[in-house]
This record gives sequence, C-alpha cells and structure tokens, in this order.
Amino acid sequence: IHNKKDEKKEQNVQVFVRVRPFSQLELSKEANTSPIFCESSRDITCHHKGTSRTYQFDHLFDAECQQKELFDISVRPIVDEVLNGFNGTIFVYGQTGAGKTYTMEGKMDSPEDNGIIPRTINYIFQTLEKAGSDYNIRASHLEIYKEEIFDLLTFNANENKPLNVYDSARGVKMPELEEIVVSDRQVILGILAKSCKRRQTAETMYNKQSSRSHCIFTITVHVKETTINGEDLIKIGKLNLVDLAGSENAEKSGNNDRLREAAQINQSLLTLGRVITALTSGISHVPYRDSKLTRLLQDSLGGKTKTCIIATISPSVINIDETINTLDYAFKAK
Ligand code: ADP
Ligand code: MG
Repeated sequence: IHNKKDEKKEQNVQVFVRVRPFSQLELSKEANTSPIFCESSRDITCHHKGTSRTYQFDHLFDAECQQKELFDISVRPIVDEVLNGFNGTIFVYGQTGAGKTYTMEGKMDSPEDNGIIPRTINYIFQTLEKAGSDYNIRASHLEIYKEEIFDLLTFNANENKPLNVYDSARGVKMPELEEIVVSDRQVILGILAKSCKRRQTAETMYNKQSSRSHCIFTITVHVKETTINGEDLIKIGKLNLVDLAGSENAEKSGNNDRLREAAQINQSLLTLGRVITALTSGISHVPYRDSKLTRLLQDSLGGKTKTCIIATISPSVINIDETINTLDYAFKAK
C-alpha cells in the first residue's frame, strides 16, 4: 500500500477519488467489466497487465455514491472555512467522460442530482441566513482556453475577446472580469445555468470543446461581524470551483493546432501538479507562474488556504490506462 505523509499535522490538501457508474454503452459492450476495486473507504486497487497496485486517498466515493454524500464529506468543510474568512479551491480532475462536470455541476434542475456548485450556493445562503449575518456574495465565471481567459458571464457573440490580465503581488488582476453581486440564490443559479449554456455556444462558434478548457466559478463572501468591543470586523473568503480540462489531452496527438492545444493543457495540468506537490512537501519555490491556471489561483493555493482534488474515474476496463494515469496524478498530489 502506498501511503505517505499520514503523519502530516495539518491537511491543507485533500485528495478524493470518485468512480462513476457504468454507462449504458459500456454495459452493452465488452466494456462492462471493471479492473478497479474499492477495498475500503480509502483504499483502491487496480489490476492491469497481470499486476495490481493499491493506492490510498483521503476518501473514495464508489459508483453508488450520491451527490449529497460527496458534498458533505469533501466540500462542506472547505465552504465552512471560506465562511470563516479563508480561501479555498476545489478541483475536479480526470479524463473526458469520467464525471467531472457531473460532479461539479450535476443536473441543475433535479435537486438530488445537484452537483457541488448549486449545493455550495445553497449551503452558503442557508448558513448565513440562519446566523442572521450581514453579508455580501459575489460571483464570477471564467474559462481558460489556450492560455487565454474568457469571461463566461458577459459573453457577447460578437466580441468574445480574451480578458486582459495584469500581474500583481499576489497573483493577477483582471479589471474587465465581470463580478456580479448575488443577493438571491435563485438568481445566481439562473445566471449560472445561462453561463454554462454560453460556454457551449462559444464552443460551437470557435470549434473548441469543453474538454480542452479549464472552467473556474469563483464565489467571494464578505461577512460582517461585530466584536464585543462594538467594532465591525469583515471576514472575506473566496472559493474557486474548478472543472479542469480532460487529462487525456496530455497525450493525444493530431494535427499541429490540436497538438499545440494539447501541449498547453499538458503544461497547465503538470504545473498544477507541481504547485500542489511543492505545497504539500514544503518546497519553497512554488512554480505558480508557469501557467495561467495556477497564476489565477495563486491567492487560493497554499498558506492557510484549503485545497481539494476530486479525481473522477471510469469503472470500465477499456479506460484502465487513463484511470491509472489519473490515480497516479492524484496520488502525487497527496
Ligand atoms: P466529464 O465532465 O468528465 O467529461 P461528465 O460529467 O460529462 O464527464 O460525465 C459523462 C456522463 O456520465 C454524463 O452523461 C454524466 O451524466 C454521467 N455521469 C458521470 N458521473 C456520474 C455519476 N457519478 N452518476 C451518474 N452519472 C454520471
Ligand atoms: Mg465536462
């Protein structure tokens, strides 16, 4: 069993794995056997080419796992930190079709199938309303495609120009990025459904695919509290919910344009892995600057921030190579 760093005092990076159920197509073909076994709530074993390997993670979610359970175990503790004034980032990582978007967004119109984003919004409003807090919530939604950043909240079919990005001491500034003040949870869920749709429209227009872009939904929460001395105290927390580009792009080849696109995706996923490894092993040089993705998230990775990676995998034998790549990547982040 590969497990390391269990002795670590504070777990600022947590790594989870979710196995999706077989699809109808897989069930109807020779793809309906699985070489991966969840041995316990933490140990997963893969059989491949006559050998087997067991990995240990913070928690495993098997094919039966419901959206609520995944939220309660992996996401809610981070949202609680954000409401306390810390920053946090949640990534979904994995090959295309493994369940990243299902995990992050789910089906917006069915409460049980709601993924991380709608559940997070509901939970934030619920918690702050219950506490009777004075609060302000803002949201932005962007996409990184070929190392350029596009706003998903203000997409205009005629001028979908990449945003200008400026360096600042703690990451980057994007003055043109739309940030909306959200006063009502239904309103933000409606806006979100629209921006997800715009993403699809843009995909068709520019002949790109969501599997080749990183998508970041950011919620910033200001909570005003009054101290015993009667002073106002404002806690500011930021949460980034990141649906990463499909990890299989890293190896795919094709024509030159596709190849360059794949190389850029590879570069950003590798940089993300290196940044997280540097943070968990205490290496002082953290290579944030090597990709737009890590540059953008710099103030929400490392230090007192909480990070979680949810690696999504297919149960099918036909995807075993990608599944092993995904588990290796996720394990390195631990
Ligand atoms: P990705 O975003 O990684 O490319 P998707 O989230 O789009 O993959 O998932 C591919 C398909 O599998 C979708 O039809 C999705 O609804 C389904 N799916 C993925 N994960 C699950 C799950 N845990 N339970 C039920 N269906 C799932
Ligand atoms: Mg997706």
